[in-house]
Amino acid sequence: VEQRRRNHWGWGFEDQRPSKAELEAQAAAVAAHLGFSIGGLERPVELAEAQLPQVRLRPPTELAEICFDDAHARASHAWGRSYADVLRGFRGNFEHAPDLVARPREERELEAVLEWCERAGAAAIPYGGGTSVVGGVEARVGARFQACTTIDLGALDRVLEVDCLSRAARIQAGARGPVLESQLAEHGLTLRHFPQSFELSTLGGWIATRAGGHFATLWTHIEDLLESVRAVTPRGVWESRRLPGSGAGVSPDRMLAGSEGILGVITEAWVRVQPKPTHRAQTAVRFDGFMRGAQCVQELSQTGLHPSNCRLIDPLEAQTTLAGDGAAAVLVLGFESTDHEVGSQMDRALEICGSHGGSWEAVRAGGAQGASSSWREAFLRAPYLRDLLVAMGIFSETFETAITWERFPALHERVIAAATDAAIASSAGATVRGAPRVSCRFTHIYPDGPAPYFTVLAPARDGEEIEQWRELKQAISDAVLAEGATITHHHAVGREHRPWYDEQRPEPFAAALRAAKAAVDPSGIMNPGVLVDPL
Ligand SMILES: Cc1cc2nc3c(=O)[nH]c(=O)nc-3n(C[C@H](O)[C@H](O)[C@H](O)COP(=O)(O)OP(=O)(O)OC[C@H]3O[C@@H](n4cnc5c(N)ncnc54)[C@H](O)[C@@H]3O)c2cc1C
Repeated sequence: VEQRRRNHWGWGFEDQRPSKAELEAQAAAVAAHLGFSIGGLERPVELAEAQLPQVRLRPPTELAEICFDDAHARASHAWGRSYADVLRGFRGNFEHAPDLVARPREERELEAVLEWCERAGAAAIPYGGGTSVVGGVEARVGARFQACTTIDLGALDRVLEVDCLSRAARIQAGARGPVLESQLAEHGLTLRHFPQSFELSTLGGWIATRAGGHFATLWTHIEDLLESVRAVTPRGVWESRRLPGSGAGVSPDRMLAGSEGILGVITEAWVRVQPKPTHRAQTAVRFDGFMRGAQCVQELSQTGLHPSNCRLIDPLEAQTTLAGDGAAAVLVLGFESTDHEVGSQMDRALEICGSHGGSWEAVRAGGAQGASSSWREAFLRAPYLRDLLVAMGIFSETFETAITWERFPALHERVIAAATDAAIASSAGATVRGAPRVSCRFTHIYPDGPAPYFTVLAPARDGEEIEQWRELKQAISDAVLAEGATITHHHAVGREHRPWYDEQRPEPFAAALRAAKAAVDPSGIMNPGVLVDPL
């Protein structure tokens, strides 16, 4: 089967490229909606014009068939998909491209690639969909290594087994969201894990980063759906038993979840699946201000009602994403079940919303419409929109965290202030005109606190966008840590969050993690620079 080629710098595939006229029309509409006045639209540097570093490594004959060093393979695996990554790719900068991309078709080939990397003194970077926003897949591995091989799991994308009785499926790590969902649908099942990057990200990447899906409560993170996992390390296979639960010491699954490629390559996992929900109820509730809404969501989070959707969006973000008119905060509220009607849960949740001054649209059962569906469509279109914003000269990035309820108001105030100040200061002198937009929503809620997610849109400082990105990242991450929150709730650590992660984690734990890495990866070839420095 011919592989669809990915866009080597942005979201999606090459065959989805919009025409110049389409881009111009979209840009004009977006600029008017966001209140930015832009100059022209910048065009991406064509791949043929891009500069890539020399290839320093050739594969051995027995691996030549699965190793690629053409410009498209190297460039498209050079960066993740943060704003800074997209911008550098757009401008034809691939300074950290890997020397080779290996695409193993079976575990035996993967083992051979790892053995060869170790012999050749090359770093090895596991790669799922390359949607990391924290520098997780970038071949910035340091001078200790002769070269770098990126190991793309894309050829391992099958659902291998389905256990309908225990409702679990064995799935290969390289399966992208739509690919695994379409195979599960043949059995009437779904994994129901929908991160915003769903279209391009993979099961292995989700596990390696402890990804968070679209749903707000209960099984929000991929590890909640994990029954067992199998990985190939440089010192053998790490595979756990399929168990619904186990108290046998530190969990081998939990240790691989969030390992970000430093311990080995996840090749497959048994995950919990379920039939598609048939009972749904959803609506959008308006609140007079974000904090009014937050008080309501706090109460909802502690009722045991477990709404599947409970995204509180501040007025500015509601206006940005067309979920509202900007005059009120909007709570996208939904319940679903495969088994029972959910109307009574919705009724009780709305009673609570009413007691906090909320007002709502008529509740819809089944298919989504209205503000909640406008918001969902905008959510799924967002990655494509970001590519357009780069061409328009508009800075756009998101920052996420989690904190307990009693500290949330102070965190919110401080992060919004830090982000706004940094956005204004860092965009001084930009050609694009317009006020920065700093907004917040909750992506997930827990009984003891929310996961707030901040979006910054601002005029980009021409030619200095990466410095601007660093200034904002520094200001916001410092504010997050100073308030005692986590540097990441679901975007992972990678290379970009290292300074704050190093500050956040307990030192004895860091020592234990380094030692664990040394046991399974004594040469330290697995994704060096991510999470810990090799011993
Ligand atoms: C527009 C956009 C929206 C996003 N939305 C969300 C969201 O809603 N929720 C969320 O959690 N994240 C989100 N992310 C971040 C990103 O999609 C997640 O971190 C995702 O889990 C990465 O999956 P991937 O397959 O693309 O992994 P990659 O980007 O390829 O890799 C990420 C990390 O995992 C390691 N890795 C990948 N595969 C394996 C493997 N098989 N074995 C061992 N290590 C491996 C890599 O080495 C790297 O360190 C978003 C990113 C973008 C750009």
